[in-house]
Amino acid sequence: MANCVKCGASNLGMGRTDLLIVDETWYCKRCLNSTLGSISCAKCGNQPFRSGEHFKTIDGQMLCTDCMEQAGIMKKYDYVMSTVMAKAKTAKPATQAPRGLDALGAMKDLLEKNLEPGEEVKVAIVGNTGEALACSSKHVFILKSGMASGSLTGKKCIKYRWNQITGAEIKAGALYGLIELQGNGLPSHDVRNVSQVKQAENAVTFLIAKKGGFEEALKTINKHV
Ligand SMILES: [Zn+2]
Ligand SMILES: [Zn+2]
Repeated sequence: MANCVKCGASNLGMGRTDLLIVDETWYCKRCLNSTLGSISCAKCGNQPFRSGEHFKTIDGQMLCTDCMEQAGIMKKYDYVMSTVMAKAKTAKPATQAPRGLDALGAMKDLLEKNLEPGEEVKVAIVGNTGEALACSSKHVFILKSGMASGSLTGKKCIKYRWNQITGAEIKAGALYGLIELQGNGLPSHDVRNVSQVKQAENAVTFLIAKKGGFEEALKTINKHV
């Protein structure tokens, strides 16, 4: 699952070596000592390799994952997974999901027609079938095609200037989620009515497994409003 950042020792298979994470980086015991010296949790005094905990600097203080969980900062599992995922991304760029315009597939042309000269798309993310969201420095776009646009062959690109939007929100249900743009006169939606929301002009629905991508998009949107 992981390798020591310094010596490459693996925590899997024969001759496995114990590894732990300090600030999103995997270390074996030897390399941790030679790289960071002796560290301990500022709260409970726990030291690396004494227990199964990992470590992270929070507000300038080294905390163990047990104390992070207790303080409600982050679950140990989430910290480990985010480190594993971040590493997987840098290690295998070829298998990354397409980003930017290429992520839109068939809706790419529709969006490009609605761009002003020189306008650059910064975020593009696909939701459920026929739905996508995109952001440029000037606009946020809701793209709907097929049944999401109201007809099998239809295509719609709804374009909002940033000053028309006061915020955005993600609503998560058990299977589906939605992201809706908020602003003067824009309706609010209920995630339980996903089939209706699919056609909404200020919302995009998605499978809950894709929530992470939409949370990233939400951060971008919130930077602009
Ligand atoms: Zn090592
Ligand atoms: Zn601790």
